[in-house]
Amino acid sequence: MPRAKISNFQNLFAILKLKIRSTFVISNQKKYPFYFFILAIFFVIYILIVGQIKSYTKLKENNFNSFLESNEFNNIKEYIFENLNSPYREYSYIVENNDTIERVLKKYNIENSEINKIASQIVKKKLSNIYAGTEIKIVTKQEKDTNKIISLFYPIDAITSVEIKRNQEEFNIAKTVLKLQKKEVILSNTIKNNLYSSAVEAGIEPNIIVEFANIFGFEVDFQRDIRAGDKFEVYYEQYVDDDNVVRNTGRIIYASMFVNNKELSLYNFKYDNKEGYYDVDGKSVIKTLMKTPINGARLSSSFGMRKHPILGYNKLHQGTDFAAATGTPIMASGSGIIVRAQKYKGYGNYVSIRHNSTYLTAYGHMSKFGRGIRKGVRVNQGRIIGYVGSTGMSTGPHLHYEVLKNGKRINSQRLKLPSGKILSNKARNKFEVDRIKIDVKLAKLRVANN
Ligand SMILES: [Zn+2]
Repeated sequence: MPRAKISNFQNLFAILKLKIRSTFVISNQKKYPFYFFILAIFFVIYILIVGQIKSYTKLKENNFNSFLESNEFNNIKEYIFENLNSPYREYSYIVENNDTIERVLKKYNIENSEINKIASQIVKKKLSNIYAGTEIKIVTKQEKDTNKIISLFYPIDAITSVEIKRNQEEFNIAKTVLKLQKKEVILSNTIKNNLYSSAVEAGIEPNIIVEFANIFGFEVDFQRDIRAGDKFEVYYEQYVDDDNVVRNTGRIIYASMFVNNKELSLYNFKYDNKEGYYDVDGKSVIKTLMKTPINGARLSSSFGMRKHPILGYNKLHQGTDFAAATGTPIMASGSGIIVRAQKYKGYGNYVSIRHNSTYLTAYGHMSKFGRGIRKGVRVNQGRIIGYVGSTGMSTGPHLHYEVLKNGKRINSQRLKLPSGKILSNKARNKFEVDRIKIDVKLAKLRVANN
């Protein structure tokens, strides 16, 4: 606003100067400059007054809007409704862990028959999942000792909400899906403390950060390789609503890290319905096994001789321990078939995966298993197979991770991993074309950001 005003004044003076000059040219009378000077002063005063009035109305408008949103107004609204003695009540409920629609409705003295009617219908329509932290809006009508539901509104995910409305003795259930627009963004930052906080600072959504860490999981050890001053850049899809609010994220199209004094850029590439990330030379980032099948963990005990924390005597530690909070997801470090998913000796809840004829990995002390994780199931690399816990012979929550090569336990951190496959022939040609397209878009987006 102030900048606009200044330029207005500059224009004004420029016009006045021009006018004065042209007047001088036309007439030679010497009184004109004086008249124009007076006129100019009036003009300036006029503009100042108009500006003042405008900003005053704006202020009033703002005040009114913030008043409508304020709690004060809500209190007044509640007070009015209470004094009207209306049988209708409007509630806003924030969902807690383990809440169900049934459980929530029971808190509002609603007839059981109504609750059952709604609950059975939303289960049938698969609209019953609610999430902690989201808001349920309930309107009820008091009748004798109980309440009847007039309407119910709740979100079931980032873009879908459910609206239930009474229609005499029945309920109409409608699902609304927000219309979203795909937008491509590029965000980057320099790492100050750790990748996560620097990515959050750059405005990157948490699920994109996790995906980013997964993509680089083979190349970068986020615990030991990252230094302050390292850089990253990520180019990905966002889905925004009409108000330009990000409601969901899509895939990462390109990601780059500058770490250990070298830059590593990875491109999303799809061929033959298989999607993956490849470096500039068309080399797949996927290796057979991950070094660290868990995000945000600290290596707490490495492979080798150590005094056993429970047994007390020196013993060969045949795996690598990663300390992490109970419930932290554990990933399959490579694709393969589950050999065991059960309680097993001192390992507590234990999963083992056969990756190929040579390698097998095992994971111990889990608090629980991942969804659908059973013996014989095929898992892809990165699939959540369980969650950190302290079951079995364990002194605290951690993941005990083992890599077995031809049946013999080896040090997973020293494992020389076979490198990923390199695209060739037709796939390689398509990759080159796709990569150039991505590079062009990247250049444009970088310019737009600056
Ligand atoms: Zn261990």
